[in-house]
Amino acid sequence: MDFDYVVVGAGSAGCAVASRLSENPANRVALIEAGGRDWNPWIHIPVGYFTTLNNPATDWCLKTEPDEGLAGRSINWPRGKVLGGSSAINGLLYVRGQPQDYDHWRQLGNKGWGWDDVLPLFIKSEDHERGADDVHGSGGPLAVSDARLSRAICNDWVEAAVAAGYPHNADYNDGHQEGVGFYQLTSRKGWRCSSATAFLKPARRRPNLKIITGALALGLEFDGPRASGVRIHRHGRNETIKARGEVVLAAGAIGSPHLLMLSGIGDPQELHTHGIDLRHAISEVGKNLQDHLQARLIFKCNERTMNDEVRSLWRKMAMALEFALYRTGPMTMAASLAFGFMKTRPEVATPDIQFHVQPWSADSPAEGVHPFSAFTMSVCQLRPESTGQLKLRSSSPMDTPAIHPNYLATPTDQETLVAGIRMAREIAGYEPLRSKISDEFQPGRHAASDADLLQWARQTSTTIYHPAGTCRMGNDNNAVVDDRLRVKGIEGLRVADCSIMPQIVSGNTNAPAIMIGEKAALMIQEDGR
Ligand SMILES: Cc1cc2nc3c(=O)[nH]c(=O)nc-3n(C[C@H](O)[C@H](O)[C@H](O)COP(=O)(O)OP(=O)(O)OC[C@H]3O[C@@H](n4cnc5c(N)ncnc54)[C@H](O)[C@@H]3O)c2cc1C
Repeated sequence: MDFDYVVVGAGSAGCAVASRLSENPANRVALIEAGGRDWNPWIHIPVGYFTTLNNPATDWCLKTEPDEGLAGRSINWPRGKVLGGSSAINGLLYVRGQPQDYDHWRQLGNKGWGWDDVLPLFIKSEDHERGADDVHGSGGPLAVSDARLSRAICNDWVEAAVAAGYPHNADYNDGHQEGVGFYQLTSRKGWRCSSATAFLKPARRRPNLKIITGALALGLEFDGPRASGVRIHRHGRNETIKARGEVVLAAGAIGSPHLLMLSGIGDPQELHTHGIDLRHAISEVGKNLQDHLQARLIFKCNERTMNDEVRSLWRKMAMALEFALYRTGPMTMAASLAFGFMKTRPEVATPDIQFHVQPWSADSPAEGVHPFSAFTMSVCQLRPESTGQLKLRSSSPMDTPAIHPNYLATPTDQETLVAGIRMAREIAGYEPLRSKISDEFQPGRHAASDADLLQWARQTSTTIYHPAGTCRMGNDNNAVVDDRLRVKGIEGLRVADCSIMPQIVSGNTNAPAIMIGEKAALMIQEDGR
């Protein structure tokens, strides 16, 4: 059980790190994952997220603490717990974010993280169905394709948005995000392409890569100032996996800061409260928690939507047959079909609102679709100012941290979300959508003032599953990792996942997490040389 590199967490980033490091046969790499193998077929069928979410076999099933910004509600925070991590249960949307996000990271002092620096890494990962060009790759491990499903109501939404004055955008990943159109997916020929499918499947047989599943990392081992291994719990007993070179934490925005704190790296006060010996004080571990919060507007329709399709047994059988024969149709459906990246005010430089448009509606996916024809326009603010934090519940690795998201805490966040809700209503007023809508179901026309809309958002909004920022990268004293992702004050230890984002990217976070994994692997090899 001695390796050169030990990677903790086989999620979006971790699979990329382990796969790239093990390309060199001289590197002996261990990849440790708390969840199991990705054998469940619903992981690979895109629409399977309806069964893998809230399922303890594939999801950590986390919940936030009651949040003042959400009218005191506690909400579900799913996180993947299986090979592929959250990329195995996510909505498949392939979104890189805005060039300005990464340029901002670089302006904050993080050398090598500007758009020009990271674009080659997005391209390196990619096998885009449309082929290679200046901004897309082909032949990489991560399959990206256009949707194999369309529904009239989403097409109508895009047309209505264009009629309302928003530009059509055929490729929001090319460095120009603004506009409306259809999402690209991490999918190959109708199947999900998780980070495990992309990066581990081709690497699984390498003799220098050991994938250890069902292994909960408990904390780090140290040899003086150096991280020398990882303690794990597997098959009812504890063991240590030794790292001669480096340990890479890729356990995600909850798991990585949790492991640092359990290992004595964090806020001295907090560690002291739970009786954990301090190894190195970094007060920001677990802080700077950011997420995208979605408000879900639902419009009743006077024509059939997917709600009607999935309520019919015959239609369901036809969907299964279509998938079996052609790998097309509703079973290939990503979390949304149509997108919008828009500005709520002329003075913002880049889009600050994202739309996810879905040809179905539900109170929550677990409860099934509504018994009437309807569709959903989900609105989320892209760059929230409000930050939350994770707090230890105890010194036990079995107790996941308490999540305090602190949503909608600042006036800008409140005003931006309300403005986004008004933009959704505005688009609903344009043809060809207007004539298809029979009623606004949520929030409902009675919610008219800004205060009404904010209150509705507080009472109903949910996460769009993008926690980030809890091991912030930076060159100031409080940052957790430097711009080579090395944990400050500790040797042989890096973090590589969404937790290192200084500011959450303006979009969904799977592709950025994979890019972070690619970059981490590159830097580890450069520094090793
Ligand atoms: C339901 C859902 C829908 C989403 N939809 C989209 C989408 O459509 N598009 C998009 O771009 N993004 C989406 N996201 C977000 C995106 O998938 C995540 O941001 C991204 O996968 C995070 O990557 P990561 O590497 O930081 O962490 P993860 O992929 O979560 O990986 C962390 C891994 O570490 C493991 N781990 C944690 N703690 C331990 C421990 N102590 N010991 C051992 N292993 C541990 C976990 O089990 C997990 O496998 C969605 C997420 C969810 C949950």
